[in-house]
Amino acid sequence: MTENLGLQLEQHLPTALLKIIRMAGEIAQERGEKLYLVGGTVRDLLLGRANLDIDIVVEGDAPLLANLLAQKTGGKAVVHPRFGTAKLRTPEVSLDIATARTETYPYPGALPNIRPSSIEEDLSRRDFTINTMAIQLNPDSFGELIDLHNGRDDLENHLIRILHRNSFVDDATRILRALRYEQRLGFQLEPDTKKLLCCDASMLKPLSGDRIRHEVELVLKEKEPEKVLCRADELGVLGRIYPALSNNTQMIERLKQARSQIPSISLVLSFALITYHFTPKEGDEFIIRLNLPSAKAGAIEDMLELKHRLGELDYPDILPSRIYLLLKNYSLHAVRACALAHESALVRGYLQLYLDELRFITTSLNGVDLQQMGVPAGPHLGNLLRNLLEAKLDQRVSTMEEEESLMQQWLKEIET
Ligand code: ATP
Repeated sequence: MTENLGLQLEQHLPTALLKIIRMAGEIAQERGEKLYLVGGTVRDLLLGRANLDIDIVVEGDAPLLANLLAQKTGGKAVVHPRFGTAKLRTPEVSLDIATARTETYPYPGALPNIRPSSIEEDLSRRDFTINTMAIQLNPDSFGELIDLHNGRDDLENHLIRILHRNSFVDDATRILRALRYEQRLGFQLEPDTKKLLCCDASMLKPLSGDRIRHEVELVLKEKEPEKVLCRADELGVLGRIYPALSNNTQMIERLKQARSQIPSISLVLSFALITYHFTPKEGDEFIIRLNLPSAKAGAIEDMLELKHRLGELDYPDILPSRIYLLLKNYSLHAVRACALAHESALVRGYLQLYLDELRFITTSLNGVDLQQMGVPAGPHLGNLLRNLLEAKLDQRVSTMEEEESLMQQWLKEIET
């Protein structure tokens, strides 16, 4: 007997979303098309987990459906007719609509060729059984579950299972996707899936930098990324992304520690932390391998250079100005990464002092004030201001009056 999840939809989806989904089902029905809720929302609905990342598939024309829905709801549809996809945004909801499609891979690791097809074929191209379930949205069958690959059983048995033996060869990004779901949901890789995943891990090699970076970013955005990294290492996957990532429990511990201190850790910082143990050469190779954009690449390069200079700070009672002068030339991400990862507690303390206090300290006097005191514009004025800032950092002056009198003293010394 087919299971009906209409009630769960009503209980778990916000009213505005439910209204639009029903409306979409009605429009599709009028047009003689079939509409389905698919993917992660169905999986998470059955698990009782919130997921408002709504994916809808239509056996018909997704861009047209999105445009009709936009007209009816006053929302905005962004359509990609070439791919048969659309995104609908209303003030309250956002959802992706796609035309049911089949994918064929011209060669392993290639982006697939796409053609419109049925919901059955659309579900058969998906990654894991737990992601192949769909819920009908047409009014005459609203809420009926379609489960062609026994996703419901695997969900109950906590298993991540691919649909066919060539799955990881066709698309090696599924290797990291499998590990993400396994760790996020506390599931297990089904034994054959696990065997194939390990066998096919080498297929990560031919993936383009952009595709592999996207997957690594998704791992780093997980709630507990270190669990995924740990499992990926255990199964020989990490080294296939980049060799120096493998076999490093410290790296995984570092990320875990950092997350306990900064719960919403940024991607740039995460990248810096997982590469903290790299040599500069490894850093450069990793940046090329993942085709990292400049902000992330710069943070890694900066951090690896700074790490080698931090011995200069590993002494008690270092002057704050010395800390400031070393760190001011490095990006904040680099300093933050070192403040979390450096082995010396003393150095970590200095880095934190810079992040929390020193970098915000400024002098009360500025260039105009100095000119009014008779200093001509030019490099000399710049030097005086720098010296004044150092005096302030080292607490030799604190008030404006103290700054003025120190400056007067310096100017007098120059005159004589
Ligand atoms: P998440 O909670 O991680 O967003 P999700 O299941 O919604 O999970 P998406 O990455 O948004 O994941 O993908 C939506 C759906 O598209 C998946 O549920 C899956 O069915 C399918 N899918 C995504 N990537 C692939 C892939 N590489 N191969 C096959 N199917 C995929």
